[in-house]
Amino acid sequence: MRQQSKQKENEIKFGINSVRVYPTDEQKVYFINLFGANRWFWNQIKDMTDKRYENNPKLSFPSVSSLKRLLPRLKQEQEWLKKIDSTSLQATAEYYCNAQEAFFKQKPKGRKPPKFKSRHYYMQSATIKNVHYRYKLKKDNTVQEGDQIYVVDPHTLQVGKKLLLHTSSLKCLKGCTIKRMMIKYRQDLDRFYLSFTVVKEKKNLPKYDEKVKKTGKAVGIDVGLGKEWLVTSDSHRWSVPDTFALEKQKNKVQSRFDRNRSAIEKRVARFNHEHKEAKIEKYDFQNWQKLRKTKSKYQLKIANKRYDYLQKVTTWLVKHYDVIAIEDLKTKNLMRNHKLAHNIANAGWRMFRQMLEYKCEWYGKKLIVVAPQYTSRICCECGQKNPAFNHMKTRDWLAVRQWECPFCHAQHDRDVNASRNILKRALA
Ligand SMILES: [Zn+2]
Repeated sequence: MRQQSKQKENEIKFGINSVRVYPTDEQKVYFINLFGANRWFWNQIKDMTDKRYENNPKLSFPSVSSLKRLLPRLKQEQEWLKKIDSTSLQATAEYYCNAQEAFFKQKPKGRKPPKFKSRHYYMQSATIKNVHYRYKLKKDNTVQEGDQIYVVDPHTLQVGKKLLLHTSSLKCLKGCTIKRMMIKYRQDLDRFYLSFTVVKEKKNLPKYDEKVKKTGKAVGIDVGLGKEWLVTSDSHRWSVPDTFALEKQKNKVQSRFDRNRSAIEKRVARFNHEHKEAKIEKYDFQNWQKLRKTKSKYQLKIANKRYDYLQKVTTWLVKHYDVIAIEDLKTKNLMRNHKLAHNIANAGWRMFRQMLEYKCEWYGKKLIVVAPQYTSRICCECGQKNPAFNHMKTRDWLAVRQWECPFCHAQHDRDVNASRNILKRALA
């Protein structure tokens, strides 16, 4: 039984909104203690369940509620735990159970059990759940009883009674209800983030907005594997998000980072072998930490650029068409062919599909997923498969841009033909 917060019928999940936080030194200490406590609790559960399994493998895995019942006892033993937000510890217990359950389910697929958490991991996080939340601007500043989180002004967030946080713009929270708030700390970048799992009332969705009109148009979309990433059946084309320059720079830093790491690991091993009392860790090397920061910055920039691009393309598509047809591509299968891997990863096909799915729901449009077989080898005019492509190698096949149908002699652009076939299949 997966632990999920209950969702009312008139509400819809509205994704995850992230904002950056700029905590003071005092708040940083509070956050770091929070991460530490949650990490400690996770490792305690992991240790306990591992031992339990060793002693008697037949025992079933303890339930979430029994894990939560450990908390009062632990608090008696450990004084410092009383100062920590208890909903965050409960959330940790839930996450552990989810991870364990996913492991049991997908064991045959090679999934690994949850690991111990390390304080060196690049991302530290803690969740605060069951948040009572209110969006308020300065004029109406009265706080009601039970408000855990409220927006004081668009750049200030009050959490509980003690924390007054300075953040980036909070306008994305307007009209939403927060279910959980996760505090994240990117150690490599030394940045703090808040991400909110939000729901919205269904009546606030854009599909009930009069400005969003039905266009009465349907479209098929084919993913190209070259520089043209998306091609629609009415010949609109999008290239892949342009992150090539950034990637080049990132690869440069990455290789320096890797080289330094292996050198440092050797030095650390030698030092620790020679000095039994004073041990050092690779994380103590400040220059390497700086390099790590630069590397992470590039990675983040690339990811942000792709994400932004996908958002723009999907929004455009959803606004311009009523019915959108795409292929049911398995990213895994395509990734196996390493020549295509770079482009697929760059194009972020999976993320694209997810965005289309939820945006279609928000805007009241329809997304149809069709079988991908032979979409680019069949002629969209007469519906016959072109036999000339049957025994081609992948590389030759990808090089074909234009072709003529041997049956009805129609001229085809490879990608436009494919997207037309997809549309045809969807409407059939
Ligand atoms: Zn034909």
